[in-house]
Amino acid sequence: MAADNSDDLSPATRVVTAGRRAEWTGGIVNPPVWRASTILYDDVAHLRSAAGRDSHHKLYYGRRGTPTQWALADALTELEPGAEATFLYPSGVAAIAAALLSVLSPGDELLLVDTAYDPTRSLANGLLKRMGITTRYYDPLIGSGIAELIGPATRAILLESPGSLTFEVQDVPAITAAARARGVVTLLDNTWATPLLFPAIKYGIDLSILACTKYVVGHSDAMLGSVTATPEYWARLRDTSHQIGQVAAPDDCWLGSRGLRTMAVRLAQHGRSALAIAHWLQGRPEVADVLHPALPTCPGHEHFQRDFAGASGLFSFVLDGGTDAARVAFVDALRLFGIGYSWGGFESLALPVDPERHRSVTRSVRAGPMVRLQIGLEDPADLIADLTAGFHAWNGALRQ
Ligand SMILES: *Cc1c(COP(=O)(O)O)cnc(C)c1O
Repeated sequence: MAADNSDDLSPATRVVTAGRRAEWTGGIVNPPVWRASTILYDDVAHLRSAAGRDSHHKLYYGRRGTPTQWALADALTELEPGAEATFLYPSGVAAIAAALLSVLSPGDELLLVDTAYDPTRSLANGLLKRMGITTRYYDPLIGSGIAELIGPATRAILLESPGSLTFEVQDVPAITAAARARGVVTLLDNTWATPLLFPAIKYGIDLSILACTKYVVGHSDAMLGSVTATPEYWARLRDTSHQIGQVAAPDDCWLGSRGLRTMAVRLAQHGRSALAIAHWLQGRPEVADVLHPALPTCPGHEHFQRDFAGASGLFSFVLDGGTDAARVAFVDALRLFGIGYSWGGFESLALPVDPERHRSVTRSVRAGPMVRLQIGLEDPADLIADLTAGFHAWNGALRQ
């Protein structure tokens, strides 16, 4: 039985019901942790018949998963209308690597959005380059102009929308249409929106990638990644992932399944609080620009308005002039915002970021010290008070 991802239920309902199969785990509501390496067979005939059939969704050997992993993979497939199935990975970066390796071969060219997550750029500039795969970076706002970059060697286009650190929103339907016309595969890092806010495969994407570490897990306590594929690309994604030995740990998948059940309500709250704080920041004299897809000043905002069901909780802002030392004083003065990598958990985070260091063919709209905020589930009034204290520290540092 394939996962049911028909369009008839709202995503908020789907996250509650998805991936629960009585034939795997009986009536247990959240599939328990099934840990395994060896699976025992009744006799040699049973062993031989198991080896001869498709092991997908069958107990075979621990590397092929147990119902704990299958349930989460199935649940993610159910959130993506048009998808065939999902493979899980021990991190988001592992998911990106497997997705790219499943479609690229030596001699191929990858078109990579210039605002891609920096480790994705490292993979392209490192391992992929070493394998004889070339990468060409493109402007996140290129839209249908991508057609002009597609050459005879172009095999894949990787999108990330909104872009890392600066949040430019891509015209996904225009890019996937141009790619499809030329037989080029499209991959999207959909970590910011998740399928709840942007069902990627419905918008023409072939391989939809999530760092589940962020909103799916949602509690900053496990690493996990996923790739959801169309029927056309599923078999090669699965086979490549098996060949490179990928398996996500059952304990982490259990945390992912547990997190998924509340993802819709968490995302709604992250989104509301983040937008309120983004608006408040726009009114601060210390702030030159707020980079948030739901604000009309954000490059690609019209695509956000057209395609997204809402915003999540991560955005950046640019301080008006000033120095790095003043930016450090601002971040260090915050009490509720932690200083650390990752995002998508229940706690707020602040991070000084320098996007110019991670760009090849474009520059971000606004120069100046930039801070990225992950807005957690605290009361936004308390977060605003905390940021106000940060601005006092910023102003104090500038007077010195
Ligand atoms: C964090 C992140 C990843 C990588 O996920 P990990 O689980 O940390 O490996 C990929 N893409 C984006 C946009 C991210 O923010």
